[in-house]
Amino acid sequence: MEKKIAWETYKAKDVKAAEKFAGEYIDFISVGKTERECVKLSVEMAKAAGYKDLSEVVKKKGKLKAGDKVYQVWMKKSIALFNIGSDPIEDGMAILGAHIDSPRMDVKQNPLFEDGGMAYLDTHYYGGIKKYQWVTVPLAIHGVVAKKDGSVIDITIGEDEADPVFCVTDILIHLAGDQMDKKASKAIEGEQLDILFGSKPLAGKEKDAVKENILKLLKDKYDFEEEDFESAELEITPAGRARFAGLDKSLILAYGQDDKVCAYPSLVAMLNVKNVKKTSCCLLVDKEEIGSVGATGMRSKFFENAVAEIIDRMGDYSDLKLKRCLANSMMLSSDVTAGYDPEFASCFEKKNVAYMGKGVAFSKFTGSRGKSGSNDANAEYMAKIRAIMEKGKVNYQTAELGKVDVGGGGTIAYILALYGMDVIDCGVPVLCMHAPWEVTSVADVYEAYKAYVAFISY
Ligand code: MN
Ligand code: MN
Repeated sequence: MEKKIAWETYKAKDVKAAEKFAGEYIDFISVGKTERECVKLSVEMAKAAGYKDLSEVVKKKGKLKAGDKVYQVWMKKSIALFNIGSDPIEDGMAILGAHIDSPRMDVKQNPLFEDGGMAYLDTHYYGGIKKYQWVTVPLAIHGVVAKKDGSVIDITIGEDEADPVFCVTDILIHLAGDQMDKKASKAIEGEQLDILFGSKPLAGKEKDAVKENILKLLKDKYDFEEEDFESAELEITPAGRARFAGLDKSLILAYGQDDKVCAYPSLVAMLNVKNVKKTSCCLLVDKEEIGSVGATGMRSKFFENAVAEIIDRMGDYSDLKLKRCLANSMMLSSDVTAGYDPEFASCFEKKNVAYMGKGVAFSKFTGSRGKSGSNDANAEYMAKIRAIMEKGKVNYQTAELGKVDVGGGGTIAYILALYGMDVIDCGVPVLCMHAPWEVTSVADVYEAYKAYVAFISY
């Protein structure tokens, strides 16, 4: 049952291919830190690969047939891509799904205040984070400010070398006696996650002169006023590029690898496999980290609606045809899993954990406290997956998120399973998941890509 380390199975050309793929992934994830940025990049890549906007096809009453490639964007935060196969669409699709939102801090709607001669932006964290990890690290702001006149201002500050960065402060160790005695979950509280935003007063102002100066800068440089924060989505992420890690460069250190490390290989596999029998689909969705809610989360109907539009454009839409198409589909719900960390060995059960470098990991089930909240894939489907992986010469392993009763987690798997389709969780092992900087293995990222290619080519 022991799986080989992927590196040991590689010939020189495989090592080269894995390193090249990882380099391209590093470029993608350094720019695509938020769901909006990932959608923007995905659309650019899709267009270059010959994909057309499904909304345009619908608007022009165009026809779709085997070989056609379309994408549907939803509210600039989620995207579904389709490559129409030669088999009847009601026979089902091969779906690659992943999420493109990641844990972070979001700027509040009334965020700006001054205290002690310094200006701050108040935040509300998004997703599950260890709050103490987010202090004293360089941070960047990514997002939009939507104005009443309908215009939307794109904001990215902290990524360019010439940009300033931001941070959340922590108390010096000399005065941290009380803090160090607290539980880790209380050492830094949610309301202490305020972004240090400036300290220079506006000349001639007496009250809140630092805040006034910040407002002047925002107006002069970005053309928005304080009240425009009400309709802004400003996401605070770690600042700086992703990097190769380890002296042998076998690892990747990056923000937001949960779940772009599955999203990017899914997207590239989707774009690279040109001709398919089964219609292939790549779903990159928002809001997984807060429960797949909202119009752009997986629980939204946007995906089902897009499939309905496609069937309609193919000639004869019926509700039954849509239902058959969805029920007969098979899906890889791709999301990261916990990689074995010997520093925290007691959290894992060594036979059923994903090891760094042993390839893409399949989890028959996720959930916690007795598989609760899990999708729990069918044995027959897992057998088919094994056959597909073998055929594609993919290094894969099976894994659970951790030891029984230590914790757990969920993914989007159960939502697609509602249609009655076969779904299984799979993904890349990660160290320090949800930390500002997460670690993955170059070999695992490449094996995930190979797995996705094998899945949609099958
Ligand atoms: Mn995830
Ligand atoms: Mn997550």
